[in-house]
Formats: sequence, structure tokens, C-alpha cells
Amino acid sequence: MTIMQESNRTETVAAGSAARQVDAVLPPAGSLAGLDYVQALTAVALETLREVTLDRPGPVTAGGPAAVREAARRSLGGPLLPAEPAYPLETFRRFVRDYATWSVDVSHPAAVARMQCPPTPVAAAAELVVGILNQSLHAWESGPYALELERYVIRELGELVGYGPDAGGTITAGGSISNLMAVLAARDRVLAQRCGWRPFAQGLTGLDKRPVVLATDATHFSIGRAVGIVGLGEDMIVRVPSDELGRLLPEELERTLAGLPEDVVPVAAIACVGATDQGWVDDVAALAEVTRRHGVWLHADAAYGGGALFSPRLRPRLDGIAEADSVTLDLHKFGWTSATSGIFLVRDASVMTPLAQQTTTLNADDDAEAGFIGLYGSSVQATRRAEAFKIAVTMNALGRDGMAAMVDGCHDLACYAADRVEAEPALELAARPSMSTVLLRYRHDGDVDAFNGELRRQLMTRGVTLLARTRVRRPDGSSPVFLKLMLLNPATTTDELDRVIDDILATAADLERSAQASR
Ligand SMILES: *Cc1c(COP(=O)(O)O)cnc(C)c1O
Repeated sequence: MTIMQESNRTETVAAGSAARQVDAVLPPAGSLAGLDYVQALTAVALETLREVTLDRPGPVTAGGPAAVREAARRSLGGPLLPAEPAYPLETFRRFVRDYATWSVDVSHPAAVARMQCPPTPVAAAAELVVGILNQSLHAWESGPYALELERYVIRELGELVGYGPDAGGTITAGGSISNLMAVLAARDRVLAQRCGWRPFAQGLTGLDKRPVVLATDATHFSIGRAVGIVGLGEDMIVRVPSDELGRLLPEELERTLAGLPEDVVPVAAIACVGATDQGWVDDVAALAEVTRRHGVWLHADAAYGGGALFSPRLRPRLDGIAEADSVTLDLHKFGWTSATSGIFLVRDASVMTPLAQQTTTLNADDDAEAGFIGLYGSSVQATRRAEAFKIAVTMNALGRDGMAAMVDGCHDLACYAADRVEAEPALELAARPSMSTVLLRYRHDGDVDAFNGELRRQLMTRGVTLLARTRVRRPDGSSPVFLKLMLLNPATTTDELDRVIDDILATAADLERSAQASR
């Protein structure tokens, strides 16, 4: 069937629902007429996505920022809210085409830049259901089954981490929000215990102590933001000396805590479980031994490394994670659900209470006593999407073996790519991969940082390969630019990965030639 015939067919399917007419008012998606409509629109979407995927040779359409801006100007330059309604199917087709044409194809083997996993088909289809049913988690009457589902997802992930029956948590809009909730929980719990202070209610002015968070120079930037947001001041973070990788060392944490001035209250120390670049893991059990003695909250940021919990092979590296007071996981990274699928877990669910202020509309006591309980009190949001649905259905479909095979597949690919990089005289490998990242750079006589930066931009502009960049700490204090492959697509073959490295080498060679020619 050609695209035109397909289009006619889908228009006809929806004809009964008046898609042919230009209606001023559309039916609700979840009504019978609306479901016919959704079916027709979904057929258009899938057909268009298939076409765009077949048309495009690389992970992104070539041309770089200028080309995307020009495409957007052409398509979106008219008013987004025109005076008259248009045919929904045709409008939708046009929007899907442009959006997909200029999107990153996260399922392409050469899309290895960001921690954006390609979601499973189950997760993607689950999003359609979540969108149509449009449940929310803030009140019982906004999503009664959705909130049960969230409780089950949180309970099972808590068990996966190793937490006991008192654990709690919430699904969040990502690792940054989970880390924010951790810093908030730590601030309120520790200041209540140590100073009898309730910062959520009382604020921080008037407190005669200075609360601080301890981290290293390598701690993820989202922690700095969280500390700023909760009023403790990003610049006031106490940076604990770390090892050459950036790991938080128990003995240095001990020394730093012991040396803090009298008027300083350490509220939290931040451990990293799976560093964003190199995948290394802090020794959470040893750190917890120190923080417990000092009455400090220990948070484990496993936004990336948490995926290893699913793998019997990698799981031992995370031993001791349950000793942390709270844990951040991100299943939209190493979990094959679409963004966002952030998870915040706490060993003791009662720490969430500062968020459970009484409202006039959401949480009346007599309703709660009768079992009509929403999840407003365990989140920084009110209206909140039912992300638990795609997570539950994906985990159920893949099972333990499936999740393990996906994680191990990515780890295997990273090891394969590292072998290949080591075997290429023109490339330098930063370190053997711990999880699913490979850090490499092209050897170049001259400004090697600038060369690798330009190499990455060339690859992106040509639409050949999407890579990330970072800086790697060296024992001599330098931090050269490296390029990063983030391997989160276990369906990639080693041949495809070889082609990615071939493309990097070929583009770098072109760049060397043009640099020499212009000299
Ligand atoms: C990705 C990441 C975050 C931030 O998570 P988002 O979901 O992008 O907000 C925090 N910490 C670490 C270690 C990460 O890798």
C-alpha cells in the first residue's frame, strides 16, 4: 500500500468520527468516537515514522543547527494557533513528519551521545494508553489504579535495591528531581534531629547553625542545583578530597566531618553509584559506616548505575547500596522506558512528611481515614503523570532475564568498542569501561582538545554519529577533552559499532587533511 492509499484508508476509518470534516470541537480521546480517531491518527503516525526512518541514513538529519532552524522556520513560521481549524489527520501527518525528520533517532546504532535509551515497543505503546486515560496521582479520584500501580513499582524497586518494608519513595520527573528530594529530605530530617528545627515550615533564617552538604568535585551537577534550590547554597557545598577518578573516600569523609567548625551541621553526603562518564561506583557501605556515626544522611545517586541492579554480572559492584538513606534511579537511562522514569527511594518512608502539608482540596482527614488517599504528599508535584504504567508493563514483559540481557548487552558492546579503540593507533582510550560508556579521543599533534571538539561537531553536522564530550581528570591535574560513546541500545551489532568507529576515524582524517591544507 502506498502512503497515499494508506492516508485515504485512515481518513476513511476516521470518517465516521468526522475526521473528514473540519470540526471546531474534537471528541475526547477516550470516548468511542475518540478511540476511532486515535486509531486513525496512530496509523498515520506509524506510517510516517516508518517512512522517515527508511529515508534517513544516519542518527540525525545532516546540516547541523542552521538546517534545523531553517526547517523549523519553514514549518512553524506561520501561527501555531491559526484562526480556523484544519484537517486533524493532515495536520498531524505534517507535524509527525517534521518532528521525526529532525529528531535524533535514538534507536540508530550511531546515536551514542546521551543517556537516552531507545524505549521498548511495550513502553512506547504504554505511553499511548497513559496519554488517553490521562490519570494523575495527586488525589484518589484522579487515578485510583494508577496510584496502586505506583505503590507496587516503588515497593518492588525498593526491594531490588535491598530496602526493607519501611521503605518508600516516589516516581519523579528524573534524576535531578530525585536528587532534589534527597537533599530536601536530608535537610529536614537532620535539622529536626540535631537542632529541633523544621526548615520546610520555618525557613533557614534564624537557625544559628549553618547546614551543609558534602560532595566531591566530581559529584553530578544536579546536586549543586538541588542544594541551591533548597537554600543551602551551591557555593557552600563542602568538597571532600576524592581519589583520582573522583570517588568519595570514607577516610577523607571522616577527616572532613571531624574538621568542620562547631556551628556547621553536615546534613548530607552524596555518594555516586555509576558516574555519568566512567561508571565508577563509590563504596556506599563504607561511607554509610561514617555517616551513621556522624548523624549525616547518605544519598546514593544511582541515576545511571542503578541499571546494574538488573544484571547478576554487574550487580556485585553495587553491593552496599541499601546502606544509603536514599537512592536515585533513572529507568529512562538504563531501563528502556521513555523519559521520564525517575525514581526516588528512601529507606524510611516517614521522611517524606514535610511535603504532606494539609490542603483544603486534596487531603481531608475523613477522606484519608476512609481510604481515599492520593500521593500528593510524597511528591514535589501536584498533577503528576502515571509513569508507573510503562515501567510496570516493561519490567513485566522483559522479566529479570530480559532486563539482565539488555544491561549485559550494553556492557558487552562497551567492552567491544574499547577493544577496538585500543587496537587503533590513531585513537586513545581513557579507561576500560565499567558500565556502558567508552571514553576516547583522536590523537592529534597540536591542540588536541580543540581538534576533538571540532571532530564531534563535524560528526553531528554530517549526521553520521552523535557523540557526547566530557573532560577526563588526570593525576597531573589536567583534564583533557574526551569523546564519549554512551551505549544503551543492546540491539546494536558489533559490525554496526565498528562502522561508528570507522566513521569517527574517517571524519577525523578528513579534518586532519583540511587542517593541513589551510596551514
Ligand atoms: C543523568 C544523571 C542525573 C540527572 O538525571 P536526569 O534524569 O537527567 O534529571 C543525576 N545524576 C547522575 C549520576 C546522572 O547520570
